[in-house]
Amino acid sequence: MTEKILNYINGELIEPVGKTYLDNINPATGEVYSLIPDSDERDVELAVLAANAAFPVWSNMPVAQRSDILLKISALIDKNLDRLALAESIDQGKPLWLAKSVDIPRARDNFHFYATGAIHLATEAHAMGNSAINYTLRQPIGIAGCISPWNLPLYLFTWKIVPALASGNCVIAKPSEITPMTAFLLAELCREAGLPKGVLNIVHGLGPKVGAAIVSHPEIPAISFTGGTKTGEWIAKTAAPMFKKLSLELGGKNPNLIFADCNFDEAVKTAVTAAFSNQGEICLCGSRILIEKSIYEKFKEAFLKRVSTLKVGDPLSDDSRMGAIVSKPHMEKILAYIELAKQEGGKLLAGGKQLQLSGKNSKGYFIEPTVFENLAYDCRTNQEEIFGPVVTLTPFETEEEALMMANSTQYGLAATVWTENLKRAHRVAAKLHSGIIWINCWLLRDLRTPFGGMKNSGVGREGGFEALKFFTEEKNVCIKL
Ligand code: NAD
Repeated sequence: MTEKILNYINGELIEPVGKTYLDNINPATGEVYSLIPDSDERDVELAVLAANAAFPVWSNMPVAQRSDILLKISALIDKNLDRLALAESIDQGKPLWLAKSVDIPRARDNFHFYATGAIHLATEAHAMGNSAINYTLRQPIGIAGCISPWNLPLYLFTWKIVPALASGNCVIAKPSEITPMTAFLLAELCREAGLPKGVLNIVHGLGPKVGAAIVSHPEIPAISFTGGTKTGEWIAKTAAPMFKKLSLELGGKNPNLIFADCNFDEAVKTAVTAAFSNQGEICLCGSRILIEKSIYEKFKEAFLKRVSTLKVGDPLSDDSRMGAIVSKPHMEKILAYIELAKQEGGKLLAGGKQLQLSGKNSKGYFIEPTVFENLAYDCRTNQEEIFGPVVTLTPFETEEEALMMANSTQYGLAATVWTENLKRAHRVAAKLHSGIIWINCWLLRDLRTPFGGMKNSGVGREGGFEALKFFTEEKNVCIKL
């Protein structure tokens, strides 16, 4: 029997008001394996009622007590790690080993990090000599709307909801309709951990219905969104006239700068990981590889050799380095970009087509790791986010040229630099237009650091105390002495 996902509202797992459902497809088999509530504004309204009722209790609960409940959820995620990882892999198409080693541990850590972080959030005081003292009162906003994408489902869902909850807000959250399963399973764990009813509400369904109802609801004063730049633009337009607080984590087209003085083997190895992890469906993937001309041919050869060892296969097999693309429409979008790259004069060096697997995966959505060269830095393939296993190799002659190409897109999320020259590393990092710069590494994350992008990659920063501050309203209290 096909499993039915349910909304989590007011502490209960319930059907959507309209009683209609959407198909949830396993991308590795192309088959419907569960049903997603096709909720609408009526379900969001129920969630708002529940959150409003829960807010006085939750926001007034001592922070240590809130923290205890969130730590219990963290422990339950750990206890259920294998089950959650399997669900994530089936729902998203990512290799099971990746879900086990990255996605679910990170969701657990997000709970742990913010459950403890909220205890340490301090406030500032500003003394005016002997005449007055000011202090900052930081209070929860009320209801936070959290909307997340499909690429790292539970990882990014929890990255938003936990700082919101830890700082005393109630939350109405919408996971992606493409990957709703682990958020549904999380609701069960929240109930088991004793999270008071109405504190977290999860409404499943389509972006333009449920997401839009959350964004435009007058009683939801803060919106934290991760997803595409176009959707972010719509959210900004809708929320701005209502003066909502907005955090937007959007798309990327990240450059990976390889200088001739790099640690060559490390650079090649990590460039392949940065290009094709999670089938290239990570907003931080390095999809534009810029290589100093003097080592271009050597790098290309070593890079392609390594790419040829990447096995694309059943996400549930231990030896699959890459799994399935998340959905048929997304696979078709990626294949259209591969055609575009050819039309733009790109020379195909590896991959370039859908991979037909056999047996239970014969109807799944798989694409070979794809590498192009010979494309102008400013062509569409090099400017637009593909969000799949497609990368380009481009030579540069000077540091200035590398920076010019790196900074040429509308995006500014992440950049990676490979050089053993310390001065160059600092100089280039300062000149790159990106919110995150990795020097001689990729995806090395410290949860205390500010996370987010410049330009059309977003507004605001997540991570560390930044997120706790975002989900609180600051009030200055001035006392005359
Ligand atoms: P998307 O914008 O299509 O959807 C993201 C979420 O927004 C989903 O839950 C969706 O249902 C919802 N949504 C869609 N339309 C909406 C609307 N009108 N109002 C409110 N909500 C709406 O993005 P996606 O395809 O799920 O994710 C891929 C994108 O996310 C890529 O561009 C990727 O770079 C980006 N991303 C960014 C980061 C980051 O941290 N910057 C992280 C992961 C993914």
